[in-house]
Amino acid sequence: MADRVFFAVCEGRVTEYDYLTLLQNLYGAACSFRIDMPAPGSRRDDMKPEQVADFAIRVAESDGDQYTEIWALFDRDQHAGIPQALNRLARHAPKVRVAFSHPSFDFWLYLHFAGYDVPLNGSSQEIVKRLNQREAWTRFGRDKRLTEARAADLAPHVVTAAGRARGLEKRCAADDCTHTRGGTVCGLLERDPGSGMGALIESLGIR
Ligand SMILES: [Zn+2]
Repeated sequence: MADRVFFAVCEGRVTEYDYLTLLQNLYGAACSFRIDMPAPGSRRDDMKPEQVADFAIRVAESDGDQYTEIWALFDRDQHAGIPQALNRLARHAPKVRVAFSHPSFDFWLYLHFAGYDVPLNGSSQEIVKRLNQREAWTRFGRDKRLTEARAADLAPHVVTAAGRARGLEKRCAADDCTHTRGGTVCGLLERDPGSGMGALIESLGIR
């Protein structure tokens, strides 16, 4: 039995859930966690940011006690409604946490293979092009599944990717980045490129 049970709900209906399943398969037993997700039947379409927020808040209010943390995974590429969704979720912190990837979850995947810190202005095109150069990823983009070959390619590099994502976040927090920002530190929407997935990996105890 896993000591800690997490819940995660995502905008994308394929890649993110495949990735979370990979994490559970690789580290669930060793790090004693399980990740619950929306039932496959409710994942027929990608969700809008508002729907992700609704889902996470509903779980927090009905079953919050049984979860260590509830995570909402967002992308920058479909940004309508993101600030409102983030504001609503912030009222449920720290039980509900957000992993925001800029421009998209694809950037998080790419961090498994290389560092990258050039602003992408909301487009995943360059990142997908780079992923496509790897053997297992030639059709990635048209086909968003994490096939067995893609999962095997990612598996050895999860901790490295988390370190790279945390490194980008630290630069923003230390005022050591080149982003134009509204406040004294970069907000989630300003961290281009970036991913909050490093914090999820850390919270799961993967190191
Ligand atoms: Zn910054």
